Amino acid sequence: MKAVVYEEFRAPLFVRNVPDPAPRDHGVVVKVNATGLCRSDWHGWMGHDPDITLPHVPGHELAGGIVAIGKDVTLWHEGDRVTVPFVCGCGSCPQCVSGNHQVCDHQSQPGFTHWGSFAEYVALDYADTNLVPLPEAISDVTAASLGCRFVTSFRAVVDQGKVTAGQWVAVHGCGGVGLSAVMIANALGANVVGIDIKEDHLELARQVGAVATVNATVIPDVVEAVREITRGGAHVSLDALGNPQTFFNSVANLRKRGRHVQVGLLVADQSRPSLPMDQVVANELHILGSHGMQAFRYRDMFAMIEAGKLAPEKLIGDMISLEESVEALVTMDRFDWAGIKVINRF
Ligand SMILES: [Zn+2]
Ligand SMILES: [Zn+2]
Repeated sequence: MKAVVYEEFRAPLFVRNVPDPAPRDHGVVVKVNATGLCRSDWHGWMGHDPDITLPHVPGHELAGGIVAIGKDVTLWHEGDRVTVPFVCGCGSCPQCVSGNHQVCDHQSQPGFTHWGSFAEYVALDYADTNLVPLPEAISDVTAASLGCRFVTSFRAVVDQGKVTAGQWVAVHGCGGVGLSAVMIANALGANVVGIDIKEDHLELARQVGAVATVNATVIPDVVEAVREITRGGAHVSLDALGNPQTFFNSVANLRKRGRHVQVGLLVADQSRPSLPMDQVVANELHILGSHGMQAFRYRDMFAMIEAGKLAPEKLIGDMISLEESVEALVTMDRFDWAGIKVINRF
């Protein structure tokens, strides 16, 4: 099969012919019809992820059809159209048994712990636990674009943030993750404030439901601005970027008993940001992480998409070929596209 391969971190990637994957006993092989391009793939290529062994094939936001099935798989058939969470659970550890596959003790992640979906085929583990059937109304490209950003935002806003109608929600960073969060919180009836440093991102945030925006390059005190707009602070605030400053602002702009949800990754030398712990104690703030979403939670998200309350296709940017993904991946840190790029030609 054709696949995007790198043999060293930060070294050139190539489209190569490599052996087709075979399913493990509990797994399947999926023919990839669409796969999203994500900053996590860039972090992997940079060498920030200790799970990756070389040579490696990136890609974890995928949709496609099952072409081969392991002998222990009971729920799936060849030809089934599926997607998969970027964190795949084992199905049997204490986390999985408690319904928290997103923090499985033995998690696998296509594109990290094994070869991913920047390829014609990808192997997926524990298919009965992890595969998600795609409704007819949701295209392969849309399903791939849900990838990790939209589903992570869904869990962050709905399950971790517990956002309800009428609440004020602040979203720091309006890239792919942040715009998804704005759309989802707005659909739940919250009043959303989008914060970013780029006016075109803020324009998109308003288009997908933000009632107010703050340009952090123009407004000197973001925390004060959010407190003023929200009349006392946000009930729920997300750092959708993953940066020490946006993290700090997201915690500091909460009202009493507010909930901060960390969605953006803080890696390498940014992984230990400072925290206004005085406010956390005095105001009884909640600090939460959000890491992917379990396969069984996709059903509620799909229902909102099918009902027209969520329109993730609005967040799709360019559709590109496998060959074009090589250049797009290595330049991800230089170009901050608002729309999600999806590979749909292999
Ligand atoms: Zn598990
Ligand atoms: Zn991703």
